[in-house]
Amino acid sequence: MCPFPERESLDLLSERRSSLLHALDTSLGQKITTTQEIRDVQWLALTKLIHHAYESVPLYQKKYDAAGFHPSMLHSLDDLCLIPLLTKQELRAASLDDLTSQHAPAARLIASSGSTGIPSRMFRDESSLWQFMAANMMLYHDWCHGRPYEEALYFVDFAPDSIDFVIADFLRTIVPEDRLLPVTLSTQEMIEKIREFSPQFISSYPSTMRSIAMTMVRNGEFNHQLRLLHLTSEKLDGNTRDLIQRVFPHVRIVETYTSSEGGLIAWSCTAGDHRLHLSENSGIYETIDHILVITDLTNFSTPIIRYSGMNDFCTIIDSPCACGSPMRAIRGLEGRSAETISLSDGRVISPYVLLNAMEEVTGVLHYQIIQHSRDDIEILIVPAESYIPASVCKALPIPIREKIVDQIKPKAGAHKVPLIVSHL
Ligand SMILES: [Zn+2]
Repeated sequence: MCPFPERESLDLLSERRSSLLHALDTSLGQKITTTQEIRDVQWLALTKLIHHAYESVPLYQKKYDAAGFHPSMLHSLDDLCLIPLLTKQELRAASLDDLTSQHAPAARLIASSGSTGIPSRMFRDESSLWQFMAANMMLYHDWCHGRPYEEALYFVDFAPDSIDFVIADFLRTIVPEDRLLPVTLSTQEMIEKIREFSPQFISSYPSTMRSIAMTMVRNGEFNHQLRLLHLTSEKLDGNTRDLIQRVFPHVRIVETYTSSEGGLIAWSCTAGDHRLHLSENSGIYETIDHILVITDLTNFSTPIIRYSGMNDFCTIIDSPCACGSPMRAIRGLEGRSAETISLSDGRVISPYVLLNAMEEVTGVLHYQIIQHSRDDIEILIVPAESYIPASVCKALPIPIREKIVDQIKPKAGAHKVPLIVSHL
């Protein structure tokens, strides 16, 4: 059954085509070649966005007034640090009225549900979604040397209101509907679709393609048609990459790092050294204690300005890249894999999963997860008054014992207290 609304009228379809063409024109016209050009574009967009946020989005009016911040305090990009950070809790706690710009153009409500089902919601301009799509298309264009591949296939999360669902809906402008398939299909059904369409291009997620590749390896099946694979939303680990390359020997893999809040944040470099270039023509990226802080310059409905809720550890690379791009880069999200928790049943849990799960627990002032051995994982909790004992044990997807403490000290000689420590 088709998950999308009825096919719109031809008028709307042609309106969508012109929106996409307009977004492509804008992206093409924005070819930036120097660091100074990036800073100029960012400064211009930031001043427009932050005045708009302060003047018409209640969330920011209240937040900035309470913090004593006014957009007129900014004189250059160097003043970025004066802007108060926006946390995930603030975004979650805000009402839809507080999140809505009074002067925003047509927008979609995007929701992403957390592990306990508390949705995080925001509005995204349709024009920013078109820009997101245009940027992705330009990326594929670069990766396929300007010669579009035939027969695309998309395995997408069709959770209602998810950004992927909205993008899939927009994709119907250029892709036949039967090529947009839900990831809820069985692995065998997806493999049959690959056989049926013989795509040269697939867009999906690492976990979905891992299942497909694992089943194909077991069946002794290989695919020589696939040329380009776009993977997003999850970290692609080395084992999965190797497995995919084995089953699809002629494929090139392009990864993008995206989120509901930040849109397109980074994409893999064509020079092939596994760095991901930050989308610095449409956003501003910083790290604070190695956590990525993002500002999305494309969305005026619920502006995302200095958002610290991504929970992604990374280090920004300034050094010039062999591909010639002036955009800085991150080397994957190495922080996540360096702090994985390995269980005796063979499961490997990424820090991202644990940090996200911890976002759902209320009443925690500070915490630290310590893996002493495969069977012994402890969490230190500095509780607030509202903390309900043992609630972390229910929230985390691993067996863990809780210890209530007054404070968590850094190791001797260090000044940071890592949230996850593995002694394995
Ligand atoms: Zn590069």
